[in-house]
Amino acid sequence: MGDAVLRTPEVREALDALLERRTDETRLTSMGAGSDDLDDGRAYLAATVDGGWHVPTWPAEHGGRNASPAENHLIGSVLREYVVPDLYPFAIGLGMVGPALLSHGTAQQQDRWLRPIASGAEIWCQMFSEPEAGSDLANVALSAQPDGEEWRLGGQKTWTSRAMWAQWAICLTRTDPSQPKHKGLTMFVVAMDAPGIEVRSLRQMNNDAHFSEVFVDGAVVPDEWRIGDIGEGWRVAMTVLAHERAGAGSRGGGDGSRRGARLPIWLADLERLDALSAPALRNEAMQIHATDMASRWTSQRAADEARAGGSPGPAGSGAKLRTVESYKGRAYTANRAAGAHGMLEDGHGYIETVTAPSMSIRGGTDEIQRNILGERVLGLPGEPRLDRDAPWRDSRKGML
Ligand SMILES: Cc1cc2nc3c(=O)[nH]c(=O)nc-3n(C[C@H](O)[C@H](O)[C@H](O)COP(=O)(O)OP(=O)(O)OC[C@H]3O[C@@H](n4cnc5c(N)ncnc54)[C@H](O)[C@@H]3O)c2cc1C
Repeated sequence: MGDAVLRTPEVREALDALLERRTDETRLTSMGAGSDDLDDGRAYLAATVDGGWHVPTWPAEHGGRNASPAENHLIGSVLREYVVPDLYPFAIGLGMVGPALLSHGTAQQQDRWLRPIASGAEIWCQMFSEPEAGSDLANVALSAQPDGEEWRLGGQKTWTSRAMWAQWAICLTRTDPSQPKHKGLTMFVVAMDAPGIEVRSLRQMNNDAHFSEVFVDGAVVPDEWRIGDIGEGWRVAMTVLAHERAGAGSRGGGDGSRRGARLPIWLADLERLDALSAPALRNEAMQIHATDMASRWTSQRAADEARAGGSPGPAGSGAKLRTVESYKGRAYTANRAAGAHGMLEDGHGYIETVTAPSMSIRGGTDEIQRNILGERVLGLPGEPRLDRDAPWRDSRKGML
């Protein structure tokens, strides 16, 4: 871990001692679809944390190895030779809360929370969305009221993925309704087993039930669990979301493609189904493959930019749109190639096909990503935002 430049054989030697190599037969789920498996991810993270192999850019004392972006990239590409399970259950901690704590957390908060995230010992969820605050996230109403050295929380969150597994949540709250909507927000960490927190599971059309409604009634949070200053919750939320978008295609699970393999696994599967001999399907598959490669590189660039510490840019929105497009393309093409069998639950591409529509919604909808690109990259005029400067409590909730 010192100043010496890391080389591929060294990484391989270390990972050989910890992980199994992938073969052409290795199959992995992705984004938690159709799987409630926590054990594989936990075992993988526990095995890799001492070497800092999964979050290499984090400080060594918090489960990383102080890696440079180049070393991080090298480790990521060597990791593709190994079985990295679907880390969906751990993704909020690894990909969003960890980076946000590194940017905005106190030393004490980093000491308490980062290493258990990196080791898989603790799972996190993201309590941002509410019935009246999805795309219009700054409309969050869940209130946090000061009570001595503590805060008392009340309200409702919805679409909280992983809430029933999580020990901790990063929770966006309204602390000052007299301020304009983006200004009266504050971010807290909430213990999911605290009195006053009730999690109710929702079932998706892919049969997964690992996202939830969360009802909060008088839950108490100590002030030392506040992330960032009072009224600075929007800034912290933007850091979390930029990392979410940039990390949409990050390591763990995915299509299971093995570095050095002749074909990515999804294409090898299509070949096995004899789908690649049909010119139309072959053409479609190649277009998706090209999008997929562009998507991986853009995600990598966006994630590197976000990790580099500067303010995370709109590249994550482009990365997210491409990741969604390639996920859908792979799912629908594979499913169609399977013919009638693809309509059955164990059919090829079935789980991915019934999971794919949600990809355009979670982490901010496609329309919102395009708005961000339109305004921040193309310089198009912004949307009318009539309630931007008025006190939040006077604004028409749920309207832009
Ligand atoms: C599988 C899944 C997992 C999720 N996990 C989490 C989680 O862990 N934590 C969390 O906090 N949230 C989570 N979400 C919530 C997700 O972030 C929201 O669903 C999303 O931001 C959209 O908000 P909404 O559902 O309220 O839809 P709305 O905001 O009501 O949008 C409805 C429709 O209107 C469109 N629209 C809205 N505003 C505009 C606009 N200004 N311009 C153009 N079109 C617009 C939208 O694109 C959409 O098509 C999850 C969602 C899904 C589906």
